[in-house]
Parts: sequence; structure tokens; C-alpha cells
Amino acid sequence: MGGRDATMVLLDENGIRCDGRKVNEPRRIMIKAGGLKNADGSAYIEFGDNKILVGVFGPRDVHPKHMSNTDTGILRVRYHMEPFSVGERKNPAPSRREIEISKVIKEALEPAVMLDKFPRTAVDVFIEVLQADGGTRCAALSAASVALADAGIPMRDMVAACAAGKVADTIVLDVNNEEDQAGQADMPIGYMPNLEKITLLQLDGVLTPEEYTKCVQVGVDGCKIVYDIQKKALQDKYFGNGGD
Ligand code: ADP
Repeated sequence: MGGRDATMVLLDENGIRCDGRKVNEPRRIMIKAGGLKNADGSAYIEFGDNKILVGVFGPRDVHPKHMSNTDTGILRVRYHMEPFSVGERKNPAPSRREIEISKVIKEALEPAVMLDKFPRTAVDVFIEVLQADGGTRCAALSAASVALADAGIPMRDMVAACAAGKVADTIVLDVNNEEDQAGQADMPIGYMPNLEKITLLQLDGVLTPEEYTKCVQVGVDGCKIVYDIQKKALQDKYFGNGGD
């Protein structure tokens, strides 16, 4: 937060944002289910200029064994950004940010996955961010849900994710990188539309109680848009001609 480029117009007099979008308009979203033949399930997402690949492995034996749970399966998530995914080369060592995002994505997926159906095993979710442009945790979470479904992991619902935020004193859907840097608030949301449950909600910035409520509503509406694209990706693979 905090005005990196004071000259950039975040919202013009016609309500058009710095990348040409309207206030409630998400970036272009494309999801493909499958694609990695060595994974049990996989998905690729383009969310604006974010490009992310997810591979799911399992349920499989847990190593080290003492990490397994006799009552339930465990979910492990690794979010990793390629050094070339951002303008200035990212240090390849795991960063605190990557550890944090791995944890929040794992916790956002857990309510959706029926882990009790496969005790003593693990499901591993590997997230590779090839190109980052703001909102990678939401894009990655949405793709991870599709990859889990593609792996045939029993789920209660899919988690769809999208951020809302505050830019130029206005609540907008799907904050991009410039808006994240120069805007006033960013609220990533993960939501299960069928169960009507939020599984991820973070907030960076300051909002009034009214703005907070509006932001949640706008973000949840964005998740519903993402959900339709997630379902279409699975339909295209399993019932259409997009399978491999
Ligand atoms: P998210 O990607 O979920 O929005 P952040 O808010 O932490 O997570 O990051 C916002 C954006 O900042 C990222 O999407 C990426 O474009 C950029 N970014 C993150 N880490 C780095 C980094 N090490 N170097 C350059 N840009 C980065």
C-alpha cells in the first residue's frame, strides 16, 4: 500500500481503472484442467497476467511416517514463485511470503477436501507461479481446487477465490498489481459457492465497517464468476473435447 507512483490515475472520471476495467470487472480468466501426465491431477490458470500451474499427488503414503494421522488424511501445500515470475529476479530460496501463502491456501482448501475418507495418507499440492501480477494467492487457490477435483479427491465443494479492494476511495473487484501497490486496501477471498462458506479472508489496508461489508460482497460475487470458469474447465476436460 501507499502510493508508489503518485502520477498514476487509478480510477478516471468515467469509473475506468488503470488497466481499462470497470469497477466490478474481473481480469480475463482462463482455466485448463489436466495437462501434467505425471501428476494425479493438475490445472493451469491465467488470471490477468498471472500464470500458475498446479500439480496434485495422492492420496499417497506419508513420509516421514510420524506426520501421518490414523484418523484422517493430511493436505500439504507448497506455493512457489519462479525467480523469473516477477520483473526483478526473485531470490530462489523459500521466502516468508511463500511460506505464509502455502499455509493460507492449505487452510482455505481443508474445509473443502474430505480428508477423513483417506486416513494415514497425504495429498500434496504443488503450486508453481510462472508469472505474477498481483492476486497470485487467489489464482493459485482457484487452480488448486480444480487440480484436486481433477485428481478425483472427494470434495464437499470447490473453493473459488478472487480479491476485492479499495482503490481511489472506491470498492473494486480483483485488484491488480498496480492497484495493490498504490491502492488503499486488498482483500483476498476464498469462497465455496454451493456451501456458501468463506474459507479465506485476509485484509491488507484499512476499511470502514460499511466498506468492509461491501468488499466482502463484491469479492464473493467475483468468486462466483471464478466458480463458473472452474466448472467449465472440468466439463471441458471430462465431457468436452479439451481432455488429454
Ligand atoms: P498476491 O500475489 O496474492 O497478491 P502479495 O500481495 O504478497 O500476494 O503480492 C502482490 C504481488 O507482488 C505479487 O502478485 C507479485 O506480482 C508481486 N511480488 C510478490 N513478491 C515479489 C518479489 N519477491 N519481487 C517482485 N514482485 C513480487
